[in-house]
Amino acid sequence: MTDRKFEQSLEKLGAFEVSSKMLGLAKNNERHNSFLNAGRGNPNWINTRARLAFARFISFGVEESQRTTDEGDLAGYTTLDGIAGRFTAFLDEKNQTDAFLSQALEYCVQKLGMNEDVVVKEFTDAIIANNYPVPSRFLVKLEQIVNTYLQEKLYGGVDIAKQTTLFATEGGTAAIVYIFESLRRNHLIKEGDKIAINTPIFTPYLQIPHLTMYSMAEIDLCATEENDWHMKTEELDKLLDPSIKAFFLVNPSNPGARALGQPELDKIKEIASKRKDLIIITDDVYGTFVNGFQTVYAVAPYNTLLVYSYSKLYGATGWRVGTIAVNKKNVFDDLIAAMPEATQKEFDENYSIVTNEPRKLPFIERLTADSRSIGLYHTSGLSTPQQAMMALFSLTSLIAGKNDPYIESSKKIVADRYSTLMSTLGITEDNERTNSKYYCLIDIYKLARKRYDADFETWLRTKFEEIDFLLRLSEEEGVVLMEGVGFGASPGTLRVSQANLPDESYEILGERILQLLAEYHVEFSSKEEIKE
Ligand SMILES: *Cc1c(COP(=O)(O)O)cnc(C)c1O
Repeated sequence: MTDRKFEQSLEKLGAFEVSSKMLGLAKNNERHNSFLNAGRGNPNWINTRARLAFARFISFGVEESQRTTDEGDLAGYTTLDGIAGRFTAFLDEKNQTDAFLSQALEYCVQKLGMNEDVVVKEFTDAIIANNYPVPSRFLVKLEQIVNTYLQEKLYGGVDIAKQTTLFATEGGTAAIVYIFESLRRNHLIKEGDKIAINTPIFTPYLQIPHLTMYSMAEIDLCATEENDWHMKTEELDKLLDPSIKAFFLVNPSNPGARALGQPELDKIKEIASKRKDLIIITDDVYGTFVNGFQTVYAVAPYNTLLVYSYSKLYGATGWRVGTIAVNKKNVFDDLIAAMPEATQKEFDENYSIVTNEPRKLPFIERLTADSRSIGLYHTSGLSTPQQAMMALFSLTSLIAGKNDPYIESSKKIVADRYSTLMSTLGITEDNERTNSKYYCLIDIYKLARKRYDADFETWLRTKFEEIDFLLRLSEEEGVVLMEGVGFGASPGTLRVSQANLPDESYEILGERILQLLAEYHVEFSSKEEIKE
């Protein structure tokens, strides 16, 4: 049995830090040869097509470079003239990867109206990577491709790609860091300001505001079994309070896994029309896992800044690829423009090192400049091969269209695992359209009541630190999950990721949870007998 002090010390750590401690315990678990880590959101599948296409592009880029200089390992630069023709000649239509590249080029020319030489050269140079990213925010054609992808996959039919500007970032992680930094630097949120978040939420959205000393209002949009898996839309009324400067949400949520449905989106649209000054940041990295998904950005484009990452859907966490999207007409620019002269002067001083007209520098460019402490704006920007990789991932799905088989397979993987786990645990499935099923939250106390009785639940609640179940699960059963409290969920909830274990592990996982619960119950029953 683990000691209570150790448990209390763990509860002070962040949820991801606790999880890595558990991993150590699970590897040496007492009973099983295997350990199961369903603690992380990293998927265990990858997209092959875009990766193979990337590799082909390197070969092509090298051949192109050798046309101008070719001395041993040293080659020259690529040239624009006729590059698309040479690219087409390089491709072998019988090869699947090459056929995809050929379709991709056709898509860029036919659907996006690009000049074929310009787009092939941009891709080739980006992948060869012999130039700084220019423009630093996003390479022009690659931005247009990613913009189209976001529109098709996340906007739910609202046509705003042309009004949208993107900044390519090192995954969603960097996007989040840059956003907090620029909001602070541009006085859009100040120390002590109140921000709202939809809880439970991905821990950095709780930790960073806390470290930055913002005060927080929680908007609980958790769909629960008691509520028949419906959300409490009234919670959103809190946003009408003018003291709330910003609303941060993860949609579909992590760990709750649910996306906002039509009623919530309608409500946000209405609130945004009343509160022109409200800043909304939406993190939609799981958007493609929900059928008929629509982002908050599509219903409140003026107020909203969107974060997207390729990490989860494409199994690309090592690539570090993501983006920030903002409308050309937006609350950020307007709030900055309306700040007092003294503040404007301060900004002028900061940004005048990178532009002659600092007051005209849009927020999205400030984000780019701020990401390199302004001074290194000229060498800012995401590495160009990463930008090209994002565009290639995007093209696989743009070409596949509405029912992209890759996306459908990814959704099915997590949905099947979810179903296995729920049926093993005997918990009703939440099969609402908006459930992405990428994660699920299991309430151990509720499970204890359901499988045994309310006395057992009370005993469990009062006799143990909340983390005890999680610790014993890793130590004795070799199963690593994450505690929900770190995400702002209610005590006793555990987060399971349906993304990172082999399919067959989800039944074992469920069984081991029940096994441990049974052991607690034995302990509980023996205590009861002594009392009598
Ligand atoms: C995984 C995750 C991220 C991080 O994405 P990366 O692109 O891998 O940095 C951001 N937001 C949420 C909600 C996530 O779950």
